Amino acid sequence: MSETKKLPELFGSLVFNEETMKERLSSASYGAWKRCVTEGTSLDISTANEIAEAMKQWAVEKGATHYTHWFQPMTGVTAEKHDSFIAPAGGGKIMMEFSGKELVRGEPDASSFPSGGLRATFEARGYTAWDPTSFAFIKEGSLCIPTIFCSYSGEALDKKTPLLRSMDEVSRQAIRILRLFGDTETKRVTAQVGPEQEYFLIDKALYAKREDLRMTGRTLFGAKPPRGQELEDHYFGAIRPRVAAYMKDLDETLWALGVLSKTKHNEVAPSQHEMAPIYSDANTACDQNQLAMEIMKKVADRHGLVCLLHEKPFAGVNGSGKHDNWSLGTDTGKNLFKPGSTPSQNAQFLLFLAAFIKGVDDYQDFLRATVAFPGNDHRLGAQEAPPAVISIFLGDELTAVVDAIIQGTEYQDSGKRTLKIGVDSLPAIRQDNTDRNRTSPMAFTGNKFEFRMPGSSMSISGPNIALNTIMAEELEQFADELEKSKDFQADLQKLIRRVFTEHQRIIFNGNGYDDAWLKEAEKRGLYNLPSTAEALPMYTTKKNMDLFVKHGIYTKEEINARAEIHIENYTTVISIEAKTMVDMIRHEILPAVSSYADQLCQRAYHKDAQGVPCKYETATAKEIGKLTDALASACEKLERDLTKTPADPKKAMTYSHDVLIPDMDKAREAADQLETMTASDYWPFPTYADLLFSV
Ligand code: ADP
Ligand code: MG
Repeated sequence: MSETKKLPELFGSLVFNEETMKERLSSASYGAWKRCVTEGTSLDISTANEIAEAMKQWAVEKGATHYTHWFQPMTGVTAEKHDSFIAPAGGGKIMMEFSGKELVRGEPDASSFPSGGLRATFEARGYTAWDPTSFAFIKEGSLCIPTIFCSYSGEALDKKTPLLRSMDEVSRQAIRILRLFGDTETKRVTAQVGPEQEYFLIDKALYAKREDLRMTGRTLFGAKPPRGQELEDHYFGAIRPRVAAYMKDLDETLWALGVLSKTKHNEVAPSQHEMAPIYSDANTACDQNQLAMEIMKKVADRHGLVCLLHEKPFAGVNGSGKHDNWSLGTDTGKNLFKPGSTPSQNAQFLLFLAAFIKGVDDYQDFLRATVAFPGNDHRLGAQEAPPAVISIFLGDELTAVVDAIIQGTEYQDSGKRTLKIGVDSLPAIRQDNTDRNRTSPMAFTGNKFEFRMPGSSMSISGPNIALNTIMAEELEQFADELEKSKDFQADLQKLIRRVFTEHQRIIFNGNGYDDAWLKEAEKRGLYNLPSTAEALPMYTTKKNMDLFVKHGIYTKEEINARAEIHIENYTTVISIEAKTMVDMIRHEILPAVSSYADQLCQRAYHKDAQGVPCKYETATAKEIGKLTDALASACEKLERDLTKTPADPKKAMTYSHDVLIPDMDKAREAADQLETMTASDYWPFPTYADLLFSV
């Protein structure tokens, strides 16, 4: 990135954004695009042609030679197929060409993207279509056009299409509620998302020496280092120069791409950091988070580093998540989760809060399923925050309000004022940092909810599709009820009270980490789904299917396809990990510990011959021998069990979880013990201490 560019000039310089469109399009075409985005009208081909031409000219001026329809297949990563702009111009010359047709619709050869059986039953190929609500941008000489990806018969093969559908649906239902409160202005309600992204940075040369990191993104072996995160001095600590240089480069690269990267700081674990952008509409936030993850890896490479996005690269050290901050905002600039300053605004806030609480309670199992991913199993339900049980943290002040409503009593705020809900104004519910509960999976933080369960490597589309749809459903139920009411004020109070009463079990302000909470949660009848194998089946229960089909977010086939892909992915990931483990044991660990034991035996033999004491060598060699045999037999068992993996995808998932993971744990235990006993010169790859304190 150019050092001389000033930030305002740099920001968005590689984005074909609204300002650029205004500058480069006729006012008729700009107006047509704007209406398309705000009112959902369609674009005619002549407008598309003009936009394509302007886009191409702009991109070529910036040095682009190719264009690509950039999309998000169901794998959770992004995909692109690059075509160059060139077309023959006669006389051996070329011209740069890009038409409206090419902008609006592309046809990648998509036969190798997972479709969960969708394409087999419908069409063999899919098509991509421009999403005019997300700006095009230039990445590595290519004009990237954010697109949706569908089969010819219209089934969504991607993560963007259902997200856009869910955004429309929650907007529609939220507006019905706003009208009841006399709001006649709001035309659109937008789901707002700010994803905080955690990551690890390690040295590239060390990374290259670990097959497990290269193959699986995480360490499959590694004894606990003498120093981990106990000192807690890393969190918000001073950023080391090499990391600072990386962060600066990352920021500048992201800024040029229009990503509002705002916060950067160290995280709890050594080598762990966080990048948070300023929130935007959910669609842009999802696109930009995918882009940010890609850029984070590429920038690391330029700095001799590797950026690990895996949820748990190191055992015994905090894992990485992605906090999904979510709220609803109106096109008139109001945040619907912000407690208001008048009694009527407060009542409206409480109604949206009630919808959220009811929705999370009704669909806990589905929300849990959206973050079910093998890497995330090492965080959720594994002695790490947040737990696998879903609950909502409201903080003391808001909980007191909710309790007062349930009990029908008056509420006393911290200033000892007595307030009547719906009559007096609520106090500003502060986002108090001392009051922060970091163990809650879903925390209210003043004017938004922070969903802390998504894993660091995952697309945030799934969780946001779920939040939008759940919210749409509850708002619809409320609107159906209240639109019929003859006494709105009275029925509103009744509804809020009823919902809080019926769903208070989902509210929990204590330590989510505590075993006592798991027992309490069970008593309350909340779901505890500690692993992906247990959570994924929730995707396709009747209640959950009905919700998404009813709101037109997924068809039955689309939801089945997604469940199928996640189920197969689970088995694939575990099997790759198991095979990598076997490989490292056979080719690296066993030969290393065997030759070290050999060396000890020789020493003992020679020392003994000369009458020199050799108790240490003999005892160590014996212990290493025992552990080596244990490791070898654990490895054999893992290899044997791998071959017995059932063919049926659901059975294979359960089998991987119940059989292969315990096998791997056993092998790791022996290997990690061996690591602590083996001379450094003999140990075949970098240790945790090497990796975690390398940068
Ligand atoms: P934290 O203390 O958790 O780091 P921040 O205030 O830094 O909290 O916000 C975290 C993320 O939440 C940022 O990406 C921020 O832009 C986003 N955010 C703030 N307000 C909202 C909102 N109303 N809706 C959605 N996201 C928001
Ligand atoms: Mg946060």
